[in-house]
Amino acid sequence: MSQSRSEWIAWVASGAAALGALRLWADDDPAWAAFLLVVAAISAGLLAVRRWTELLAEKERRAAAVREAADGPSARLPAGWSEIARGLPLPLFACDRSGMILASNEAANRFFDCPDCSGRPLISVTLSAEMERLVIDAVREGKELSEEVRIAFPSPRQGRVYAWRDEERPGLGYLAFLETTEVHQLERVRQDFVANVSHELRTPLASIRAVAETLLEEPDADRAMQERFLGKIIEEVDRLTQISKDLLVLSAAESNPVRKQQCDLAILVRNIVAESKARAEQANLELSYEGPKHLMVDANTTQIYEVVANLVDNAIKYSNDGAILVRLEDQGEDAVLSVSDQGIGIPSEHLDRVFERFYRVDKGRSRAKGGTGLGLSIVKHIVEAHGGKVSVQSRLGEGSTFTVRLPKGAPMAKEA
Ligand code: ADP
Repeated sequence: MSQSRSEWIAWVASGAAALGALRLWADDDPAWAAFLLVVAAISAGLLAVRRWTELLAEKERRAAAVREAADGPSARLPAGWSEIARGLPLPLFACDRSGMILASNEAANRFFDCPDCSGRPLISVTLSAEMERLVIDAVREGKELSEEVRIAFPSPRQGRVYAWRDEERPGLGYLAFLETTEVHQLERVRQDFVANVSHELRTPLASIRAVAETLLEEPDADRAMQERFLGKIIEEVDRLTQISKDLLVLSAAESNPVRKQQCDLAILVRNIVAESKARAEQANLELSYEGPKHLMVDANTTQIYEVVANLVDNAIKYSNDGAILVRLEDQGEDAVLSVSDQGIGIPSEHLDRVFERFYRVDKGRSRAKGGTGLGLSIVKHIVEAHGGKVSVQSRLGEGSTFTVRLPKGAPMAKEA
């Protein structure tokens, strides 16, 4: 039987008792009438007291709910939270002890692609169980926690998570994410670079040592043999010199801001073509220039010389015969230089990688031609530092075209 029904029955019973008492009173039986009246009064009183306490409890419950609503999640955040969090470039979350997000800053909303993360579980926004665990542990245990974490959403990234508890507001904790993806990538690039450089140096050094040892062991070697071995030593030393020169050019291109001045790109290109003509002819190649006599650009002459010389040098190195055409075009805002050869070409699967440091398609041919594997990465760095772009089109066995698009520079500089 439900509570309200039993209550009604009790009320009706006490009413009936009261009526019975009145009837007995009228029938001149005051003792029984008084007895029934007392029973009715007691039961009505008890019911009224019970109802009253229930009403009081309900009132208290409602007041607590109202207090909870007013003192809700955001009201528990420290004053000034929004201002501090807004200016912070790191993703920052305020969470409760169950890992529910109470607030997030703009960096967090942007980073996790969530316009308003409040009111959602941290794990549903970051898809990282580690982050959730860290903030829950920090709030429950009152520890400052920090851990390197990998996340898969919105894209694979890496970073350090810091989680700590608000000591003045129990049940509230914070979580900040410091992304370190780029730092790790740079560190990997640096390690690869050091490994590549030492590998590149080791080969000629080992060769020099082996030849020197042979000469030492054969003091009576004839003149021809001595010349051959000494020639090999000179060749390897030249290779080492070229590597160190290219490394210096590359590091200068990477670290220094470009110092530009007005230079005549057409004259620079024509000079390089003229200087390389004899070498091309020796290799049975026809080298020619097509383009304007003068074309002024705002650029670093020494660096642009490296770009053009490297492209022409490669066209000669990687061609067996045919023609090499160096073209320069004035395309309004940009100067466009292309170097086309009819040489060995580059297999399509290598095209994306030829601009990487020390990347060579055919190591043997590159070494035999005195290549260091750094030429195209120098080209790319210098061109990009000038605000330009370099691209390559190639077909295996048919030839390659390298194109450099270079902004001509500010109009003021052009007028000057
Ligand atoms: P390298 O000193 O070996 O020439 P680069 O950085 O200049 O190094 O070039 C990287 C690689 O790209 C070369 O080893 C070669 O395999 C390929 N390459 C560059 N230019 C050409 C070209 N014109 N034709 C064919 N292959 C080329």
